[in-house]
Amino acid sequence: MRIKISGGRVCDPLSGQIEEKDIYIEKGVFTLQLSGDPDQVIDAAGLHVIPGLIDAHCHLREPGFEYREDIESGTKSAAKGGFTTVTSMPNTMPVCDNAAIVSAIISKAKQKGSARVLPIGAASKGQKGQELAEIGLMAEAGIVAVSDDGRPVESSDMMKKTMLYAAQFKLPVISHCEDLSLAADGHMNEGLVSTMMGLRGIPSVAESAVVARDCLLAEYLNLPLHIAHVSCRASVEQIRQAKKRGVPVTSETCPHYFTLTDEACQGFNTMAKMNPPLQTADDRQAVIDGLIDGTIDLIATDHAPHHRDEKEIEFALANNGITGLETAFGLGFQYLVEPGHLTLIDWIRKMTIRPAEILGQKLGSFEAGRPADVTLADLNASYTFCADDMASKARNTPYDGWQLKGRVVMTLLEGKTTYSWYDEKDSDVGKKAASEALDAESEDA
Ligand SMILES: [Zn+2]
Ligand SMILES: [Zn+2]
Repeated sequence: MRIKISGGRVCDPLSGQIEEKDIYIEKGVFTLQLSGDPDQVIDAAGLHVIPGLIDAHCHLREPGFEYREDIESGTKSAAKGGFTTVTSMPNTMPVCDNAAIVSAIISKAKQKGSARVLPIGAASKGQKGQELAEIGLMAEAGIVAVSDDGRPVESSDMMKKTMLYAAQFKLPVISHCEDLSLAADGHMNEGLVSTMMGLRGIPSVAESAVVARDCLLAEYLNLPLHIAHVSCRASVEQIRQAKKRGVPVTSETCPHYFTLTDEACQGFNTMAKMNPPLQTADDRQAVIDGLIDGTIDLIATDHAPHHRDEKEIEFALANNGITGLETAFGLGFQYLVEPGHLTLIDWIRKMTIRPAEILGQKLGSFEAGRPADVTLADLNASYTFCADDMASKARNTPYDGWQLKGRVVMTLLEGKTTYSWYDEKDSDVGKKAASEALDAESEDA
């Protein structure tokens, strides 16, 4: 199969260039030229052509919580959001702490997946923080990182052992930073809003204290560490200072930490309940500043689907987390690129090549020979995001009804279309765009 993507504005995170040119795909990989006439021409005029997005932090819920999401629905959600690669965090049931579960996830993803799934193995058996998991066997089976995400690694000694052991297999350790003694029984950020709502708060130092610990461990061992979902000013500052000292630490944030504050919890809105909790406007600004100066390397979704029954209950009882795969693109473009915080290419780097580098994957660029993962986007499209339109099984999002700009219109995984807005929409706009695309295709072919 030979594919030509013609006339789009190609955003190349490697060269940093955005230019109008054609992209060629043959046998599922990028190539500099085709060996014959294309079998398929995708007209990308007016669209931006981006390497397939990569989500370094995602909960697919399989095995064990398929009523929330599974590999099939989660990767459909990914494809619709422009992602071609997602990780799967290990806090499933049973926990992904052994090679058999890693292999099961990989084979299910190959059969049913609309995106590449890179499993992350638990750091400790059962994520209990007592005994190291079989990291070596899981590495052989195909994990790309180690994490007890969903929970912190409470003991500093256990974190040190995890980093030392994971390093033998060249696997990054991803840390969910939370001091459980400080966070104890809290439901949202500790501050004015929690006081007004009469809810027990979680002080932001519950995150930053562990960020500081982990930066110091990475410095002491001189081993890489990746900090998950950075949400507050003090954490950004700890990572910034560590990076200045040359500590091999990297970090991520999620769209909710640069678009929302704890004000979103007002009215006991459980859709704004997450861990770490939404913080203040000052923290949100610090996260944006961290993205700008590179303290925060990448944007992940922390896609955390939950069943309706787990969210439509009393705030204190509701589960933490929101879905993120189908809003990340529009939120990032609208809230980081449009206001000029990040250039288009810097933003794209944080969702393509940076996560690829940190996860040790040869993905996230248009280099010849690499898997032909592509996201086509219409950056002029403004639209109302509707939770009921999600491909995810879950509906827990605080963004229902938000006006967003920047729409994913097509996603290709190794040259195969995994999502097409044109196919999905039977609206006049969709029909028109689809027929234009078809016309162009027949002309070109
Ligand atoms: Zn986490
Ligand atoms: Zn998570």
